[in-house]
Amino acid sequence: MVCTLTFDDGPDPRWTARVLDALATARVRATFFVLAPQAAHHPRMIERTLAEGHEVQLHGAAHLRHPEHDRPTIERDTDLALVRLAELGVRPTLWRLPWGRAAEWSQAVADERGLTIVGWDADTHDWRGDDAATMLNAVTPHLADGAVVLAHDGLGPGATRDGCDQTVALIAPLVTAARERGLRCAPMSENPAALATARAAATTSSWAFGELSSTTVLRSPNPLAGADVMGDAEGGRIVRPAGAHLEPPR
Ligand SMILES: [Zn+2]
Repeated sequence: MVCTLTFDDGPDPRWTARVLDALATARVRATFFVLAPQAAHHPRMIERTLAEGHEVQLHGAAHLRHPEHDRPTIERDTDLALVRLAELGVRPTLWRLPWGRAAEWSQAVADERGLTIVGWDADTHDWRGDDAATMLNAVTPHLADGAVVLAHDGLGPGATRDGCDQTVALIAPLVTAARERGLRCAPMSENPAALATARAAATTSSWAFGELSSTTVLRSPNPLAGADVMGDAEGGRIVRPAGAHLEPPR
């Protein structure tokens, strides 16, 4: 049984290194959904991330909300990101959409580029500055086979915290909690249940479109997709398999 720790919005010259240190101490590997311009600015951080057995995947270039732009704009942003990452030797297969927001054509954009859109099951809400203990309590109930935990190794647009120290502090106890539940922490590409969920969402076009806040109910274009009921916002439960898109308003 596998779960995956994921980190968005990096690499960050200060915090990504700290996250990598904590992952190394906990002896686990994770998945980083990076912003390509930052990756280009910090190639050594990408090298280190890969050298330590982690996975580097696509978040975007300009961190755009798909529904607020036209398809060509997002295609240009995505292709720019893929070129920049290719220059670093990174060829993503997985894509976490910025803000977790999909447009009607996002799946097609992904398909054309061989990318699988992935969501998450447990949100640390680390962007808003929750402490590690609070985040551990919020996330632990969602640790199960295939679970994907969302955290950030960078300060994305709108983050309301000064740094990622509590995310760093969360890693060791979170890994312990996962192990206590019989889970091994591994990158997304080694998480079969999570990949199956993402692929099912792609084939059924069950991604939720448009605006979702932490209090709205999933609106799926395909109600037969069988999305779980979204739990309470504070619990951080994200819909599966519709791959809910809840990213904080930042
Ligand atoms: Zn992000």
